[in-house]
Amino acid sequence: MPTAPDRLLWIDNAAVDSVRSARFETRNPATDEVLARVAEADAEDVHRAVESARAAAPAWAGLTGVQRGRILARGATAVRDHRDELAMLECLDGGKPIAETPEADVDSAADCLEYFAGQAGSLQGDYQSVDGGFFYTRPEPLGVCAGIGAWNYPLQIAAWKAAPALAAGNTLVFKPAELTPLSALRLAEILADAGLPPGVFNVVQGAADTGRALTRHPGVAKVSLTGEVGTGRAVMADAAESLKAVTMELGGKSPLIVFDDADLDNAVSGALLGNFYTQGEICTNGTRVYVHEGILEPFLERLLARTRRLTVGDPRDPDTDVGALISPAHRDQVLAFIRQGEQEGAQRLIGGEAVTVPGCEAGAFVSPAVFRVDDPDCVLARQEIFGPVMSVLSFREESRVIEAANDSPYGLAAGVFTRDLQRGHRVAAALAAGVVWVNHYNLTPIEMPFGGIRQSGLGRENSRHALSHYTQLKSVFVAAGDVDAPY
Ligand code: NDP
Repeated sequence: MPTAPDRLLWIDNAAVDSVRSARFETRNPATDEVLARVAEADAEDVHRAVESARAAAPAWAGLTGVQRGRILARGATAVRDHRDELAMLECLDGGKPIAETPEADVDSAADCLEYFAGQAGSLQGDYQSVDGGFFYTRPEPLGVCAGIGAWNYPLQIAAWKAAPALAAGNTLVFKPAELTPLSALRLAEILADAGLPPGVFNVVQGAADTGRALTRHPGVAKVSLTGEVGTGRAVMADAAESLKAVTMELGGKSPLIVFDDADLDNAVSGALLGNFYTQGEICTNGTRVYVHEGILEPFLERLLARTRRLTVGDPRDPDTDVGALISPAHRDQVLAFIRQGEQEGAQRLIGGEAVTVPGCEAGAFVSPAVFRVDDPDCVLARQEIFGPVMSVLSFREESRVIEAANDSPYGLAAGVFTRDLQRGHRVAAALAAGVVWVNHYNLTPIEMPFGGIRQSGLGRENSRHALSHYTQLKSVFVAAGDVDAPY
């Protein structure tokens, strides 16, 4: 059997080994095959990467926004040129269906680079005449930023953090999740080939210790994390030591409300997309589906019929709808939540079982599950499961369902399906969430701000608002006349 290749760190536009040549393995979660032996960065390696980013910062910040944008635009084109390769890498490293990854992972990363390439040229400050003169503001980069990613959308997350940071004139050190290290590294190589100068985008590899070394590094001005709430707390606490700015994209348990006037097929489509895409490993998923009691029966009938048709299979097969969960440990945790949910009274309507896929016997597959849940305190209605597990609850009154939807420590996303225009907007306004979809679910166009409230996060990614999280304003006051000193 051929041995798995080594994949190294990316510092100063070169693949470099870690100082201690330590390695960890990354595996295909569908087959357990070792895909690569990856160099593990310790604090010394992280320091090297930060130093490289620090050295590159003045020249990168010294370019005009349009010049930076031109390079990012070339990067976007290069990512599209590598669409098939990157899509397969995400499929192999993350267990995600190849039916999804070209669009959901690669195109979304390219869209992001393209969008912020355009935004880079429009960064501008304000001017105002005031008593004694005038002032203007300069949106200046923060310096060296750190990005730390989760394993569910590794390439997209790397792009979502790198593109706005770089557009605003910062340099970045990115750490992908240990479980999915390959695509961010490939992105770095592709961006370097497209003309990104050395040190502007560096990649360090490793687990929590590597992330911690990055967050605690005094040379890092800002940390942007995508991960669990508990990790968010730890990263914020570490960042607080040196008062680093933070952006936090954390977990959720989002509600999706279906009123009795909704287009039923669209609502079922939304529920399916918002629960089973990427095996349910999506932070914004609408895993608490509140259905008006008047349409509960037909809704469930159509939902179950369509769930039954989903194919759990080899992620490399274009006909696969539901791929492998990220690891056997994660599968076991998902199944444990299901067991607990049943003990707490949830009624299993379909799925929720470990599946053996021919040719992928070692993979961590779980069939898409739908549960009827009456008790809002049931674990299935409370806990972020991060797997293909949907809870359907029923409601009668709008005010009560809003109350129930908002009864969560999270506030990442929400959805509402109704044909009543006024109700759609009224409910969207009342829901405690950073993103609300009306008559759709889980679309995240790069132009739209993305992020959570409450324990789901701080700050926003995407849209021009992301740039404000990667810049600091300098106010410059210019006197119009003499200094009138009383001394
Ligand atoms: P984790 O919180 O476990 O990990 C996120 C990243 O943080 C990983 O790179 C991890 O390293 C690193 N990390 C862990 N501990 C520390 C630490 N103390 N200091 C610095 N870095 C650390 O999340 P998962 O990877 O398991 O991803 C799933 C979670 O991410 C879910 O809760 C999901 O909701 C959330 N998520 C949120 C999104 C959003 O935009 N709101 C989008 C996608 C996911 P390693 O894993 O290598 O050990």
